[in-house]
Amino acid sequence: MPFKELDHWIHDYPLLDEIIKYKPVTWINPHRKKMMDIHSLPVGINDMQEAEKLWDRFAAYLVKAFPETAMYNGIIESPLKEIPVMKQVLENKIKLPVSGRLFLKCDHELPIAGSIKARGGIYEVLHYAEQLAIENNLVHPNDDYAIFDSEKCKHFFNQYAIGVGSTGNLGLSIGIISAKLGFKVSVYMSADARQWKKDLLLAKGASVVECEGDFSEAINEGRKVTLSNPKGYFVDDENSKYLFLGYSVAALRLKKQLAEKNILVDEQHPLFVYSPCGVGGSPGGIAFGLRQVFGDAAHCFFAEPTHSPSVLIGLLTGKMEKVSVHDFGIDNHTEADGLAVGRPSAFATGISKKLISGVYTLDDDVLFTLLYQLADSESIFLEPSATAGLIGPQRIAVTNYIQAQQIAEKNIRHIAWSTGGNLVPPQEMQSFYERGKMLAGISYNPV
Ligand SMILES: *Cc1c(COP(=O)(O)O)cnc(C)c1O
Repeated sequence: MPFKELDHWIHDYPLLDEIIKYKPVTWINPHRKKMMDIHSLPVGINDMQEAEKLWDRFAAYLVKAFPETAMYNGIIESPLKEIPVMKQVLENKIKLPVSGRLFLKCDHELPIAGSIKARGGIYEVLHYAEQLAIENNLVHPNDDYAIFDSEKCKHFFNQYAIGVGSTGNLGLSIGIISAKLGFKVSVYMSADARQWKKDLLLAKGASVVECEGDFSEAINEGRKVTLSNPKGYFVDDENSKYLFLGYSVAALRLKKQLAEKNILVDEQHPLFVYSPCGVGGSPGGIAFGLRQVFGDAAHCFFAEPTHSPSVLIGLLTGKMEKVSVHDFGIDNHTEADGLAVGRPSAFATGISKKLISGVYTLDDDVLFTLLYQLADSESIFLEPSATAGLIGPQRIAVTNYIQAQQIAEKNIRHIAWSTGGNLVPPQEMQSFYERGKMLAGISYNPV
């Protein structure tokens, strides 16, 4: 236990008593600031716009190296879909209205990696590859980046090693893009990583190192080994500005998608966005982007498993990455891949602290129930972690957040951010679905 005894922590933060008993909680962030009062973030809107330009430069490469991106002209993006039938199912089952409109941001459909990690992970590797290529006069920023798909470039990148620690999805995105560019890439997998993810990585030409412990231990081992190589580069999910910026570009794209659908967003018609949260990098990067783009009209909530509330504990206690859920006797056991994280990202959480509206936790059983309900109502199949945002509108409706912000409920545009699922093998998906179906038959009250 860091700094003080558990009962002192609970005395200072009574919500911790429920958190350590694995009860679902909703925490509203008292430190959320208006944009006009935020002056000192380590990144700004310029960084996000530069990140978007890098994606544009690499579009010609992506079309060539990953033909499945050709239909989007090499831009890795996902659709925004309204899900009215699911909205009704939620209202009927939970006996609570979802006021306003409910959308799903379909990042499970992102090409190449089938999860939100296609944004951050691929961005960070492309950024590194570009930097190396420019320093070594292989390309110039005005060139056609299809040249990255050449034997010359691949041969050059093969001198360099990339490492990453992962519970699965980050490893897939880093492994696939790095191997394609020609890097030697090693993915340090936590003990809970699924076999099919390891098999897929091996098939794509990445090395898989199986680690004994959880995600933090996989990161520690990967960091140590990778950085002992002078030509090694470690993608550090616990502290990465580049992952963060890769995610943030989603907000610029979402703005265009909303405009195309004629969906007005302003302070009277706000966006409420609910994102599944592991280290807090993807939801943090997106929240940062949304607050830059939509200002105070963007209200961002993170969703964590009751057994892995790492970002919630970091923000609640103000100790950020200095504390791990294990310090509070919480076991970090969840079937939500990508969310089984004991310690938050230092970089992302320091920013989220001022920007986000709150964090809620939910049980694994609810994730599977939502998975089944979404599949049945909308024929959309997600992995369990990716469903965590769907319960958000009702979780926030029972707090006093909406009244305190003086928002008309019927004007809210809710977006549940779906973070993964397309690469899950059909058999595995079938067993998720069956489990959810069984649970959906049992009466429950997740709100
Ligand atoms: C990684 C991941 C998340 C969470 O992203 P963080 O950056 O770890 O917070 C959510 N859902 C899925 C499916 C993921 O793979």
